[in-house]
Amino acid sequence: MKYVTRSDIGKLREINEDSWLADGRLFAVADGMGGHNAGEIASALALETFAAAFGPPPEETPGEAVADALVAAVGAANDAVHAAAARKRAYAGMGTTLTAAYIDGDELFLAQVGDSRAYLLRDGHLTQWTVDHTLVQEMIARGEIDEELARIHPLKHVITRALGTYPTVTADVSRWPGKPGDIILLCSDGLSAKLEPDVIRDIINNAANLDDAADNLVQAALDAGGEDNITLILIEPREPAGD
Ligand code: MN
Repeated sequence: MKYVTRSDIGKLREINEDSWLADGRLFAVADGMGGHNAGEIASALALETFAAAFGPPPEETPGEAVADALVAAVGAANDAVHAAAARKRAYAGMGTTLTAAYIDGDELFLAQVGDSRAYLLRDGHLTQWTVDHTLVQEMIARGEIDEELARIHPLKHVITRALGTYPTVTADVSRWPGKPGDIILLCSDGLSAKLEPDVIRDIINNAANLDDAADNLVQAALDAGGEDNITLILIEPREPAGD
């Protein structure tokens, strides 16, 4: 398994409120929110707690157990962030997104809260694998607006689910079959809000390797304005099958 990570503060922000995790077969990005440095605290605490609660990768675990472990780990992370927010006035209301991937042999599991994203590049095609928990995504689902309008909508940043903001949270957990040569991208909205899916696809397809792809994705998001923190993880669980 190959992977690379990048986290860039961007051009305008004074702190980087994104956090990332790459621990064996468990990967995640978290985009924190809250006043002062609360967002930074929320995303870091969430991932630390999430990884500890998920535990070391089991050697042979049936899929149901992995899915249950992801749900439990998201719950533990929510408890930790919510409790920390209650202990300090400056942290009141803080929260974070969390997009996590666990690679289990030929399968991949995702856990999703908020508007960070997972994409899959397979056979040269890019697919968004997660559904954003945002107001505009709900409006798309109701048929009120389309994807194009959602990208420029004034309420595009309003998220409808965050980790730590409320006493409980529900994560979307999904399970996917993998294929040799798959590349998985986890990223915060500092990347996905700046680059159209076809741009992301072309950058990865045209790069010589994962490192160059990661550098070029960050640079493209910066060139597009870089107003937000930019965090990404590129994972290639298995080499492409030989030809
Ligand atoms: Mn962000």
